[in-house]
Amino acid sequence: MATILAVHAHPDDIEHLAAGALAVLAAKGHAIRIATLTAGECGSAETDLSETARIRKAEAARAAGLIGADYCCADLPDLGVFNDDASRKAATELIRWAKAEIVLAASPADYHPDHEAASQLVRDACFASSVPNYRTGPSAALEAIPHLYFMDPIGGRDREGGRIVADFGVDIAESFAMKRQMLACHVSQAEWVARQHGISDHLASMEAWSRRRGRDFGVSLGEGFRQYRHEPYPKTPLLQDLLGEALVMAAS
Ligand SMILES: [Zn+2]
Repeated sequence: MATILAVHAHPDDIEHLAAGALAVLAAKGHAIRIATLTAGECGSAETDLSETARIRKAEAARAAGLIGADYCCADLPDLGVFNDDASRKAATELIRWAKAEIVLAASPADYHPDHEAASQLVRDACFASSVPNYRTGPSAALEAIPHLYFMDPIGGRDREGGRIVADFGVDIAESFAMKRQMLACHVSQAEWVARQHGISDHLASMEAWSRRRGRDFGVSLGEGFRQYRHEPYPKTPLLQDLLGEALVMAAS
C-alpha cells in the first residue's frame, strides 16, 4: 500500500481538483494525507482571521476524515504564500510528516498567487524532503524523493486563458458522490465563493468542471494530472499504476 499526500494552498482546493482520485485511492486501501499551506483565513467577510482559520481547518479535517485521511495545515498566511526559505522548510516538513511516496501538488500556472507559489514550494520541497541535513522540524527526512504530480488549475486554464493539457485522467464517476460530500464539508465557502467569485453554487461549479475534464478522457466525470519528470525526480508511473481501471488517457 502506498502513501499519497495531496497538498494545496487553501482548504477546498483539493476537494475541487483531486478528491475524486483520492477517494479512488482510499477505496483501494492506500493511505491518504491532505494538507494545506494556509488555513484560508481570508476566505470570509463574516468572521475574523482567527475564527475563519479555525472554521476552515475544521471543515478540511472533516472532509479528509470522510476518506479516512489525516489533515494538516502549515499555517502560512493566506494571500501570503511566497517561495522563500521559511516556507520551503514548512512545505518540506509537511511532506516528511506525511511520509509521502506520491505528492499531488498545485498546478504551476493557476489563477491565484498562493496556488502558483504553493506549486513551486511543494515541487522543491519534494527534492529537499530526502536531504538529511536540510532540517525542517520533528519529522525525519524521507528515504527518497516522492513521485510528484500536478493537479489541474482551477477551471483548467492558465492566466492567459490557455488550456492546461493533462498527461492522464482519472475516471471519478464512482467516487464523485464522495468528492461532492467532501466539498460540501466546506460550508463556510458557499457564501464566500458567491461573494468573491460570483459563483452562486460552488458544488455545481465543481461538478461542471469535473464533467468538462471528463469529456477530455471520454468519461462522464474526471480529473486531470501531470507528472513532473525532471531530474532527479522519479519517472516511473507509480500513481498511474495504482489507479488501475480508473486511469484514463486522452482520446487521440
Ligand atoms: Zn485556493
